[in-house]
Amino acid sequence: MPPDLLIVRTFIVQFFVLRDGEGLYLIDTGFIGGQRALHAALVKRGWDALPIRGILLTHGHLDHVRNAPALAAHHGAWIAGPEGDQEHYENRACYSGLGRVAGVAEWLGRRLLRQPSFKPERLLNEGDEIPVWGGLRVVALPGHTHGHCGYYSARHRLLFSGDLFASFGLGPQIAPAYLNQDNAEARRSIYRALELPLDGVLPCHADRTPPERQLEYLRKLARGC
Ligand SMILES: [Zn+2]
Repeated sequence: MPPDLLIVRTFIVQFFVLRDGEGLYLIDTGFIGGQRALHAALVKRGWDALPIRGILLTHGHLDHVRNAPALAAHHGAWIAGPEGDQEHYENRACYSGLGRVAGVAEWLGRRLLRQPSFKPERLLNEGDEIPVWGGLRVVALPGHTHGHCGYYSARHRLLFSGDLFASFGLGPQIAPAYLNQDNAEARRSIYRALELPLDGVLPCHADRTPPERQLEYLRKLARGC
């Protein structure tokens, strides 16, 4: 694992801190308890005095963006996220078919938690380059949500894969149809990800399996798709 990468683990979702010089950048922000977990992880690593300068979002689901507005306001950080997920940032996402199950859960969660809507300073699309951590490239991996994306580090041959797939103790799984906005597209995105020159992938719903092994899981899923 690169030394300038920190994984913040919470009960259902993990997110990432990238150190670039004397600044920090987040990929996603976790769900309930995410801010506490972030602070504890930063203290443990000795990074707690460094400023958080930017927040990159893989998609607009509540368990990834829950803490984005508060963290951005507290640290004066910018937010960047896929343009295709604006309806999620603004709490007005539409789902159809089985995906309505996720739609209802999101709708309820946002009301119960009084999730504020927000507008990222930068809206991202396929191929956009983010000049942090040696360069991160936006890779469109739609389906889970319409705008869902990953962030690719060519320097580390590493893909932050968001919710392209999940990997817990029972092994890798593609998000079930009721959690996806477009199930067929989500499956096509598995192949799109594997076109990248990769040594590892880091999903957001995962156990401590290392990135190299996660990549093997992803390849296995592609064979079974
Ligand atoms: Zn999601």
